Amino acid sequence: MCSERIAPDRPLQANLLCWLCLGLVASTGCSGSTFRANNDDVPSRYQIKSEHFVLHSDFKQDEQQELVSNLKQLRWQIGQTLDLELGEKKVQVYLFEDEVTYHKFLANHFPGLPPRRAYFVGTSVSLSIYTVWGERILEDLRHEFTHGVLHGALPSVPMWVDEGLAEYFESDTAPGTPRADYLSELNQLLKNGWRPDLNRLENLEAVGEMQRLD
Ligand SMILES: [Zn+2]
Repeated sequence: MCSERIAPDRPLQANLLCWLCLGLVASTGCSGSTFRANNDDVPSRYQIKSEHFVLHSDFKQDEQQELVSNLKQLRWQIGQTLDLELGEKKVQVYLFEDEVTYHKFLANHFPGLPPRRAYFVGTSVSLSIYTVWGERILEDLRHEFTHGVLHGALPSVPMWVDEGLAEYFESDTAPGTPRADYLSELNQLLKNGWRPDLNRLENLEAVGEMQRLD
């Protein structure tokens, strides 16, 4: 059975909120996918290896080590917060230095995808993140890495749980801290009678079906 799933995230326009991008998220089926396990044009010059993931890049920057430390801590937080036994499958993080190279790679391997700052690609044999260096690299990596950790630990993840948790953990704040940027809007929505529609969420078959209000 085809288990490949591509979860593109993080729009390039920094002012777009995450849930806006959900409507554009696409899935690739086996027949339409061009994913190749042995990509020869991913960043490969430098590698920072951790027990549970590897950061690949073609450039050196002191901040990369900080990113690795942050992701290690994030993995621990996810396990503790969700009381989840985490898997042994390593996440491969491919960090491109510039947008030109990054988009060229995406166009070659995932033609037709909308431009985004980061993608998580989970298959039955690998968990990969493709992203580009930028101002919001920590937030982007935390988001995609959360997908990677969840998919490494669980045989399947309901997409609304997957996206919700990725948004929750993308913020580098203590677990349990509500996201202030969402609270005011959520309060307003609740005042207007909005309630989460769990039946609808449970029946979603493609991430692209998710709407802003979900
Ligand atoms: Zn996501």
